[in-house]
Amino acid sequence: MVEEVTNSREAILLEDQYGAHNYHPIPVVLTRGEGVFMWDVEGKRYYDFLSAYSAVNQGHCHPRIIQALTDQAKELTLTSRAFYNDKLGLAEKYVCETFGYQKALFMNSGAEANETAIKLARKWGYTKKGIPDNEAVIVAVKKNFHGRTTTIISASTDPSARKGFGPFMPGFEIISYDDIAAMEHALSNSNVCALWIEPIQGEAGVYVPQEGYLKAAESICRKHNVLLMMDEIQTGIARTGKMLASDHENVRPDLLILGKALSGGVLPVSVVLADDDIMLVIQPGEHGSTFGGNPLAAVVCMEALQVVKDERLAENAERLGEIFRARMKALIQKTDLVTLVRGKGLLNAIVINDSPKSDTAWKICMAFKENGLLAKPTHGNIIRLAPPLVITEEQLHECCDIIEKSILEYRRS
Ligand code: PLP
Repeated sequence: MVEEVTNSREAILLEDQYGAHNYHPIPVVLTRGEGVFMWDVEGKRYYDFLSAYSAVNQGHCHPRIIQALTDQAKELTLTSRAFYNDKLGLAEKYVCETFGYQKALFMNSGAEANETAIKLARKWGYTKKGIPDNEAVIVAVKKNFHGRTTTIISASTDPSARKGFGPFMPGFEIISYDDIAAMEHALSNSNVCALWIEPIQGEAGVYVPQEGYLKAAESICRKHNVLLMMDEIQTGIARTGKMLASDHENVRPDLLILGKALSGGVLPVSVVLADDDIMLVIQPGEHGSTFGGNPLAAVVCMEALQVVKDERLAENAERLGEIFRARMKALIQKTDLVTLVRGKGLLNAIVINDSPKSDTAWKICMAFKENGLLAKPTHGNIIRLAPPLVITEEQLHECCDIIEKSILEYRRS
């Protein structure tokens, strides 16, 4: 018999005692979710304004996705790729047709999908571009976030991601984000196989590059025979008001990396999409994952994407995003505590007028929590605000009222 916790304090103490201390959560213990709402163990209801870092775009426990999950769970969950299963091919076809690519490679976490893209880019660099063995370079950008593996943090510029975890993987060159001249310069090195970027830097604090940056990245990559490797794990699946953030500039990455909302937050599903010329550089036995491409994930992924299309979540994100930023801009007129709102669709952040080392943003998030809304600071003084995309206009206004009230009533101590 599995034990149960009866109150928040008990659950927090358990995690503290038996869990690794690799996170610093807002002290709320959640037990149930439905649509845009989550409930804590004491029964208090909250608006979710993080969406599990944009994994729950379709809303918590979407009935259609849960139905697909439970139906398939009763039939077959895992075969490994030692054998075929009757769902993987369907999911590969579905994602290829949805995003316009010839091939898909399913993995589980976002970090694994990025690792997969790195391997594809390097192998392509050696076999197609003619880069000398072991000399391939991937150009990444400052403040990137692509995951937590040792190779990925080798390209990170965040001290808390790196300190104490060296030695690092060679083969990355780091340039400034949103700097077209730096990109042109870096990609002229003939050993560069890929440019690795996020179309909006989510974890860094929702940095939106200048209009034309993604298009410039695409054309500079073409010019220098470099692969454009786009991490849309947080920005993809309708979050920014289009199916992909790259769609805002009609850009087609050579390697498209998706995760998070690909499963509606139900289980870890990630994928890398590319055309044959790139994907087929990897031969049997050179890459894989026990769980990647399992039939449960395949079925959930197809249903999760179909929900996004059927419920027109991209359109909702686009429209409500405009309303949200307008409300935040109006709030900025009434307080000196918030200096800026930025974002696209329903991926937004507000910047708190205090140093990144202060705990003001944390305390504001605690006030949000008291008033029934959950969000979390990123990098100290930035609060990312990203509700499930199924939120209605009326609910969004209610949330803006909570944010406004919490900030206007906040007293610096
Ligand atoms: N890439 C981006 C842009 C992300 O936002 C994240 C997670 O926040 C990741 C990669 C890593 O995904 P995962 O935590 O599933 O490994």
